[in-house]
Amino acid sequence: MIRNMHLSIHTPCALILILCAFIGCSQPIASQSEFVLGTVCTITLYDKGKPQVYRDIFDRLREIDNRMSVTIHGSDIDRINKAAGIEAVKVHDDLFMVIEQAVHYARLSEGAFDPTVGPLVSLWGIGEENPWENPRENPRENPQVPSQDEIDNVLALINWQDVELDPVNRTVFLMKPGMALDLGGIAKGYAADEAAAIIKRARIPRAIVDLGGNILLVGEKRDKSLWNVGLQNPLDNRGAYLGIVRVAEKSVVTSGVYERYFVAQDGVLYHHIFSPSNGYPANNGLLSVTVISSISMDADALSTAVFVLGYERGRALIESLDDAEAVFVFDDMGVRKTFGVNFALTDDDYLLMPD
Ligand code: ADP
Ligand code: MG
Repeated sequence: MIRNMHLSIHTPCALILILCAFIGCSQPIASQSEFVLGTVCTITLYDKGKPQVYRDIFDRLREIDNRMSVTIHGSDIDRINKAAGIEAVKVHDDLFMVIEQAVHYARLSEGAFDPTVGPLVSLWGIGEENPWENPRENPRENPQVPSQDEIDNVLALINWQDVELDPVNRTVFLMKPGMALDLGGIAKGYAADEAAAIIKRARIPRAIVDLGGNILLVGEKRDKSLWNVGLQNPLDNRGAYLGIVRVAEKSVVTSGVYERYFVAQDGVLYHHIFSPSNGYPANNGLLSVTVISSISMDADALSTAVFVLGYERGRALIESLDDAEAVFVFDDMGVRKTFGVNFALTDDDYLLMPD
C-alpha cells in the first residue's frame, strides 16, 4: 500500500484546464457548475452559449444520475441490484448500452475493469465521501480495513460474466443473489458524451465539459490551436498540475489514488479503485493513469481498467486500440506516456521517462 502520502484536497477538479488568456479562445458566456453524478460538474460554453443549453445539459446529467447511480433509491441500477438472483429487469436503452459497454471493457481488460464490483465498493465504504470535503481535515470516523473473510465472501460475487444481457427485451439479470452493479468507473464518461451531443445539436462551436475532472473538449479553439489540459499532481493540492497535455477534440480522463480514499490507523492509504482479483485497492506502483480518447466513455472505462492492470499490461491494452493514448504517473515520481501523447512536464519533482 501507499504510505505517508502527503495529500490534501481543496477543490474537486482532478484535471485543470489552463484557460484561456494566452491561448486565444473566445470569452465564455460564463461557466456553470452543479453537484451531480456524485461530483462537481462544470460546463463552459463559448460563443453562442445559451442559458437554455446549460439547462438542457444539467437536466440530462441529472437524468443519467437518476438512472445509473447506485446510491439513488429506485434508480434503474438500484432495481437491477435488488433483483439480483431473482429476476431480469427491463431498463432504459441508454443504461442498457452503458452496461453493454462496461461488459465490453470487462472482457477487453480480462476482468480488471468489472462493473460487478458493487459489493466490494460497499464493503470498503470508500467513495461515499462528499468530494467538496477534504478527507484529511474531515477524516472518516472509523475507517476499517475489511477482514480477509469478508473480502473472500464478497469476491465470490464479483464476476462480469454473471451479468446476463438480453438485447431484444433490454433486460439485465445478475445471476447470483447479492451481486451488484456499480457504474462509477464509466458513467461519468457516458454523461460527458451526452453533454457534448447536446452542445453539438445546439450548434455551439466550442465548449469544455468537466465532470469532476473527467474532461471532454468540444470543437476547436478559434485560433485552431490545441486545447491545454493540466494533469493533476497526485501528491499535491487540487489544482496543482504536474504537466500539460495538448489535445484537439478529445476526452482526457484520469483515475488516481487521490480521488477518494481513507488513511487507516497504520498510515496506509486505501483508495477507491479495486482489483477484482484480490479485493484490495489496486496497488501496482501507479499513482494515476490518464487516458485520452475521442469518446469520453471509452477514456473513463480505460483509465479505470489500466489503473487496475498496471503499467505493462495497461500500456499493452492502450497500444492495441486505435483511438487511445495514456500518461502513467508512478509512485517513484516517474512519468511515462504512450507515443501519441503531446505532453509537457511542468513539475520538476517528476521525471519523464522516454517513450
Ligand atoms: P473517478 O470516478 O473517481 O473519477 P474512476 O473512473 O476510476 O474514478 O472510477 C472509480 C469508481 O469505479 C469507483 O469509485 C467504483 O465505483 C468503481 N470501481 C472501482 N473499482 C473498479 C473496477 N475494478 N472496475 C470497474 N469499476 C470500478
Ligand atoms: Mg473511469
